[in-house]
Amino acid sequence: MNHSTKQLLDEDRTAIAAVDRRADELIELSDRIHSNPELGFEEHKAVRWISEKLAALGFRVERGVAGLDTAFRAVFRGSGDRPNLGFVVEYDALPGLGHACGHNTKGPATIGSVAAILEVLPSIPGTITVIGTPAEEGGGGKVIMAEAGVFGGLDMSIALSVGPKNMTGLETLASREVGITIRGLAAHAHAQPHKGRNALSALISGFNQLNSLRQQFTADMRVNGIITNGGETVGAIPAEASASFMISTAATESQAQLQEMILGVFTACAEVHGCSIDTNPGLLYREMKVNRPLVTLIEEKFRALGLEVGKPSFGGGTGATDMGNVSQVTPSDSVWLDLGSEVMPHTVEYAEASRTEPGHRALLNGAKTGALIMLELLRSPDRLKEIREAFSQG
Ligand SMILES: [Zn+2]
Repeated sequence: MNHSTKQLLDEDRTAIAAVDRRADELIELSDRIHSNPELGFEEHKAVRWISEKLAALGFRVERGVAGLDTAFRAVFRGSGDRPNLGFVVEYDALPGLGHACGHNTKGPATIGSVAAILEVLPSIPGTITVIGTPAEEGGGGKVIMAEAGVFGGLDMSIALSVGPKNMTGLETLASREVGITIRGLAAHAHAQPHKGRNALSALISGFNQLNSLRQQFTADMRVNGIITNGGETVGAIPAEASASFMISTAATESQAQLQEMILGVFTACAEVHGCSIDTNPGLLYREMKVNRPLVTLIEEKFRALGLEVGKPSFGGGTGATDMGNVSQVTPSDSVWLDLGSEVMPHTVEYAEASRTEPGHRALLNGAKTGALIMLELLRSPDRLKEIREAFSQG
């Protein structure tokens, strides 16, 4: 790789060389995690392998944080408590697809970063914390951990990830899955249908009312619903019907308003049909609080490494991630490393790319970018101050 050398200090070059020297070890770990895919909250092997490597580097590892077996906190305390710079790691796979979101690369990339930082600054002026977060693909590990205060002591954090481009500053949606169950009264569907109260009819009229209200949605509003229970037999009026909705908007406040409106629609429809309703809201994934000085710093380090910087698409086209909840607690962002824009996440092709050259390259680039970001923050306290101030103002 052709590094634009004038942006690199000697210590940056030392860090880059340290990652390159560990390339085989990091790739071996990434491929091993890929070959042993574990679903959310069951990532015992990945957590053991990642935390063993961190312990070997001198980190004090605590497992089972926030009451989650496969969550961990690994701390390397240098000459002081502050600054406390965080790396956020994921390691869960997808059902049926394995590591089709590149989470196998995240722990190894982070290990590469911290090993490089410690090679440059064996007694760092501060603390480095690696937080292992389970179940990104649906379980909301970081939502639970953020509520438990796990990220509170960090001055900032980054998550080394793989994506369609080298990019950061991606805006994501505030999102929540909500379950609805409508209860009516069963009756013989042919002999005495008039004696029943049809829960499925109530549910379907709720879907129709919701769809007719979409004209008044703003561009960031996303609602997708599926029927998860539409009755047991055609011989009976359905006494119970259930649906599940993903309700998303650009911000937490508007998400709450939209959710209230939708639940109001289904409550009214249940009432019209003489039925009752129960709602079961899931975890709230909050929107990313994008921190401009942090974005500038990350992009600066992409360029210093000779990596082309891609621009994220803004305007709510990105889905939701539990990293958003971390960004609401402490200045944070995902650092996306190019895996190739021609493959889409959650596909067989993406799983293949994650364990071959594109994944290996993204892993090593991630390790280097992460090291350069943190080294800059350790030698330039003003940069961190600027990030912290932007966070308080935003
Ligand atoms: Zn994913």
